[in-house]
Amino acid sequence: MPAISFEFFPPKTDEQRAQLDATVGRLKKHAPDYVSVTFGAGGSTLSYTDETVKRLRADHGLSVAPHLSCMGGTRAEIAALLDLYKATECRRIVALRGDLPSGMASPGDFRYAAELVSFIREHSGNHFHIEVAAYPETHPQAENALVDLRHFKAKVDAGADGAITQYFFNPDAYFRFVDDVTRLGVNIPIVPGIMPIANFSQLRRFSEQCGAEIPRWIVKRMQAHGDDAAAVRDLGAEVVAELCQRLLDGGAPGLHFYTINRAKATINVLERLAAR
Ligand code: FAD
Repeated sequence: MPAISFEFFPPKTDEQRAQLDATVGRLKKHAPDYVSVTFGAGGSTLSYTDETVKRLRADHGLSVAPHLSCMGGTRAEIAALLDLYKATECRRIVALRGDLPSGMASPGDFRYAAELVSFIREHSGNHFHIEVAAYPETHPQAENALVDLRHFKAKVDAGADGAITQYFFNPDAYFRFVDDVTRLGVNIPIVPGIMPIANFSQLRRFSEQCGAEIPRWIVKRMQAHGDDAAAVRDLGAEVVAELCQRLLDGGAPGLHFYTINRAKATINVLERLAAR
């Protein structure tokens, strides 16, 4: 199996915590290289991210990478977070710009993720392995696709060690992105972000917001299954396992799964992949 990682969001209630514990218990049998914990924009969920990072380390013995988004944060706040994660013995960070939450007036001291990456290097030296986000189908706010590639390269030039992509269902978008940034001089590992398909209508809504395209043939096949949840799950697992296989065959250095704190859809993909 290739190097894999799992992404979780920080639970806020006891019920969600129990759900995450059960999910992690099932997923860790698949020996992830590390797991990551998202960071909700606005700072309000900081304590949840930190608490989740600590629990995943202490209770599950996992290597954990906190996400850190700079939108809305000051240099002092971000420095304090970096010190906290260093004290928690984290060696990897996913550095992001994040999005400005509605109602928040100030974007903070950093405008773009590249500035955050520079600051992490300035403040913490080489303590952290820094992952950044990549968008094979172009970030939704980018002026255009080519400019977006250059902005991606700026994060690498600022000191990123690796990248994780937004999810996508068209492997050509990934291969083209890797070829394009390689031509610009980027040579860090770019790991595809994989979204297992659990709830298709939810996935469609979410994909529109984040600019991920679901190919028409997948939409049509899913629609044909209507409310037959088992058939939707099976098709979803088959489509995503096939995507993973093509990515690995084409040289992808690993797979990062967006689990949404659920185990089943990710395990269905991993089992199909292992059976190939
Ligand atoms: P950037 O790399 O800064 O890019 C953002 C936009 O600005 C792009 O359109 C880029 O082209 C443009 N840009 C960059 N530099 C410049 C410049 N100098 N001048 C003009 N334009 C520029 N969000 C969260 O809130 N919490 C999370 O935990 C989280 N985890 C994520 C994990 C992954 C793997 C991915 C792919 C995304 C994640 N996100 C998360 C979402 C992310 O924060 C958003 O997509 C956000 O809009 C962009 O973040 P970024 O780090 O890619 O920003």
